[in-house]
Amino acid sequence: MTTVHEQTKSLVEKDRENIWHHISAYNEKNPPMVIEKGEGAWITDHKGDRYLDGMAGLWAVNVGYGREEMAQAAYEQMKKLAYVPMTQSHGPAIELAEKINELLGADYKIFYSNSGSDANEVAFKLARQYHQQNGEPSRYKFISRYRAYHGSSMGALAATGQALRKYKYEPLAPGFLHIAPPDNYRRPAGQSVEEYNIQRAQEFEEKIIWEQKETIAGIIMEPLITGGGILIPHPIYVEKVQEICKRHGVLLIIDEVICGFGRTGKMFGHQHFNCKPDIITMAKGLTSAYLPLSITAIRKEIYDKFDTGEDNSHFRHVNTFGGNPAACALALKNIEILEREHLVDRSAELGDRLLKELEVLKDHPYVGDIRGLGFLMGIELVEDKETKEPATNARMAKIIGDCKANGLIVGRNGDTVAGFNNILALSPPLSCTDEDFDFIV
Ligand code: PLP
Repeated sequence: MTTVHEQTKSLVEKDRENIWHHISAYNEKNPPMVIEKGEGAWITDHKGDRYLDGMAGLWAVNVGYGREEMAQAAYEQMKKLAYVPMTQSHGPAIELAEKINELLGADYKIFYSNSGSDANEVAFKLARQYHQQNGEPSRYKFISRYRAYHGSSMGALAATGQALRKYKYEPLAPGFLHIAPPDNYRRPAGQSVEEYNIQRAQEFEEKIIWEQKETIAGIIMEPLITGGGILIPHPIYVEKVQEICKRHGVLLIIDEVICGFGRTGKMFGHQHFNCKPDIITMAKGLTSAYLPLSITAIRKEIYDKFDTGEDNSHFRHVNTFGGNPAACALALKNIEILEREHLVDRSAELGDRLLKELEVLKDHPYVGDIRGLGFLMGIELVEDKETKEPATNARMAKIIGDCKANGLIVGRNGDTVAGFNNILALSPPLSCTDEDFDFIV
């Protein structure tokens, strides 16, 4: 009979033998955590050690782990009807699309896929086809921002603005251009946040003009840059970008893959601004990552250029799993929980409290900046507060390791090539209890 210890050991060994992990390089000395269960904001590994998951997996498990009613919703749907391709339709997909429109407070057509990357690919393809069918076939380029992450597939990665993730796989999809996002902490001395944000928006307009506006299909951006280091724009930035898009016939694609479903203290991140995107992509928090599902929401006026009766005017895109009935039923349950437990307000409240509680850290010699919106926070660590020299790899690793040793998982974000991989990220489940919150603090 094998002992518990032997079983445990073999699990890690089998992992090393067989699994090629995403992003992370593991070895004998540094094995991956093997997580066995999750409850609320906490996960437990195979050794029985518990951690508060300060990253909600990959910024995703918004309602927390271990929700039986979510499992039940998926189970009931699977028993009743496990699969329908979205070339046809089914009840949960219809209900979910209606619910998403209610949450967006507007009329969008809902296109289902499986992941955030998929949803962004759909946005790019749709935008190009829209311009073709709207009499402007020369519009094929997309503008995106440095430091942003939009996914791992060839188009979504092309939109991504982090060179280290990309350069070994280039050439990626053609037609993606980048501009710098507002990074208020590192703005030029003497410039107000507002002036600086206006200037950054003007750079977007300049890019359109330099590139010849008739070639630009759209801009893709998150309401705030998340994985690139929690860069929160002044509202004027988003409003100006929207105004520039309108003036030049450029579609505004908002990537809500992380910011959606309460993460920033509103149901969607763009709802912080006076903004009506043309296309919105969402994933992660849509199902709190219990099952894969993503959505590309398209303004109905754009859809009107499709399916006009002319040959080939429909969107020639299909994926097998998008809109899976169990995933849609589960997403509906997830949204019901978000609403019933007021988790969006809770996100805003916990985020505000966290900013206040962590105020004391501002005097710490290595803390350059603390910023957040809702239950999404970045702590930018520096070697020197005057020069803002980013914290070294060793310092970042030590702090993250110390957090883990004390039972808290935190993220590390930014852009390695630019040298700003020095932001500690916190994005815990929105369902954190007061005790969980005190633990994080
Ligand atoms: N967009 C943003 C802002 C993301 O953070 C991510 C993933 O982290 C994606 C898109 C891609 O989503 P997925 O990993 O589901 O393909």
